[in-house]
Amino acid sequence: MTAGTAQKISNAFLSCTAGAASFVFSLVALLFLTELDQKIVAALVAGVFCLLVSYVAAERPNSENARALAALSDRLLAVEDGDLVSPAPASVQRNMPKLAAAVDSLFAEVRASIENAHALGMYDPVTSLPNRLHFRSEADKLLGETNRDSKSAMLFVDLDRFKMVNDSLGHARGDQLLIMVANRLRVVVNSEFAGNARNRPLLARLAGDEFTIFFPEVESVEEIGRLARRIVLAISEPFELSSHSVDIGASIGIAISPDHGTSIEALMRAADIAMYRAKSSGGGQHCLFDAELQAEHQQKIDTEKALTEAVQKDEFVLVFQPQMSLVTGEIAGAEALLRWNHPREGLRLPATFIPVAERTGLISEIGEWVVSEVAATLGAWHRDGFDGRLAFNISPRQVERPDFFAKLRAAFADAGVPLSLIELEFTESAAMEVGAAVLDEIAALRDDGARIAIDDFGTGYSNLARLRSMPLDRVKLDPSLIADIESSEKARVIVQAVIQLIKGVGCEIVAEAVETVAQADILRAMGCDTVQGFVFAHPMFEDEFTAWTNAGRGRDAKSVA
Ligand code: C2E
Ligand code: MG
Ligand code: MG
Repeated sequence: MTAGTAQKISNAFLSCTAGAASFVFSLVALLFLTELDQKIVAALVAGVFCLLVSYVAAERPNSENARALAALSDRLLAVEDGDLVSPAPASVQRNMPKLAAAVDSLFAEVRASIENAHALGMYDPVTSLPNRLHFRSEADKLLGETNRDSKSAMLFVDLDRFKMVNDSLGHARGDQLLIMVANRLRVVVNSEFAGNARNRPLLARLAGDEFTIFFPEVESVEEIGRLARRIVLAISEPFELSSHSVDIGASIGIAISPDHGTSIEALMRAADIAMYRAKSSGGGQHCLFDAELQAEHQQKIDTEKALTEAVQKDEFVLVFQPQMSLVTGEIAGAEALLRWNHPREGLRLPATFIPVAERTGLISEIGEWVVSEVAATLGAWHRDGFDGRLAFNISPRQVERPDFFAKLRAAFADAGVPLSLIELEFTESAAMEVGAAVLDEIAALRDDGARIAIDDFGTGYSNLARLRSMPLDRVKLDPSLIADIESSEKARVIVQAVIQLIKGVGCEIVAEAVETVAQADILRAMGCDTVQGFVFAHPMFEDEFTAWTNAGRGRDAKSVA
């Protein structure tokens, strides 16, 4: 063999080595590294390394170097067996010390990247607490190791008002707050169980403002209750964020194993349900899971499923409640209210399903049905010569759909119903929150004759400037405002002031849930225009409603008042 041929073979061999090295590094990048930027770094490393070896192949083609590179090739192939630790072979260190140093430092970087990727995959980068994945696998292990007779506890901690802080002070401060919360949780949890390594609780941040704590072994439910109270107390102390003092709270759900579940998944679900109860009861408290909560939760799931079918099976119906003018004594119109004709449970009230429909988004389809039903009903009434106005309720989620207003207009146009016969009721909070584009659409509808009302006024918080500038005709007082006007002077003062305020911005007042003649009398004296309530009529099916209006019973309003 000539020297030239030997060199060619050696170069070919070295180029192959470069290819193999590049391949192995790329493989490592794909298999072990999770982050895209790490993959890119590793791919670059592979490329650089490939070039380096090719360079060496071209520049130093003697047999000792070829042997060193063969050893290096073996070393690189050992990566396939998971060896990222061994240094560059001695022959490479001896003959090509710079290359050996480069290989060692590259391996060190790959190792660090992988460790980093693992850490990122297991710990929450903000609080350094274990993340959801890590928590689940660790808690699973701990639960598996506990004594059969002992009890474990799962706590689900959700912060109250965190979103408000995050929105108003910004995400950086929000993160700072989460770190402080995590530290307070650490202190409470560790102080309770210091020195008891086997029972060491596992604290984690699941997501957002949700934390979990798993206690592998607890003495008693009371003990956990006490601890939950200490956590609530610790989180209720103000947090000093730069120059701000921030008040938040914690709602805690507790589930106990084996009573409420024997797997981490079941315990987390139960603790989550209990946490929702703690939150819906006002927050800043803890709640222990129980059978009643389980039944309620099951009911929610069943309702969700049945509601989806109800939309397809057309199980909804509208009832109508008259609104009486206290000025003329005439029927001023009516409100269409939704009922679900449940196949087994009979007629269900909106309070039992509207919240579920809103949460699942089904309210959009249900709302569309309401609009088309109101359009059809008004079309028929219009043809029969009854030109009373019909109000109906709009959920805030409905107006989020970009085609909501176009569809609404089309439904009434198709039914031959002028827009002057409809009234759209928005809840106070929805009215305050909708964006400028929706407000423009509402204003355009109003310009075309539709009336706009705010429903349940007095339950949310009203921005008075918005109230003044909003395209608005009527404000419906929330029943809670008028409930005590017969017996309470304070209640009367408030209602009088609210009526003056509403009239001051040029709107009509409708009082809802008026149940007694005395209430109607007081409201009339205060200048309330219209009343809706059991004192005149309950919501009725369409045939009852038309019979009621035809019988002229609505003319009684003046005498009642
Ligand atoms: P709302 O729009 O404020 O409707 C008035 C509620 O007060 C109705 O309850 C009505 O039956 C009730 N009510 C009327 N007079 C009296 C009274 O004298 N005393 C008492 N205690 N209550 C009275 P309903 O039908 O159960 O509806 C509850 C809520 O469900 C409605 O409150 C409305 O927010 C929502 N809702 C009803 N229909 C629809 C709908 O089609 N779409 C949407 N998105 N929500 C609806
Ligand atoms: Mg209403
Ligand atoms: Mg209302």
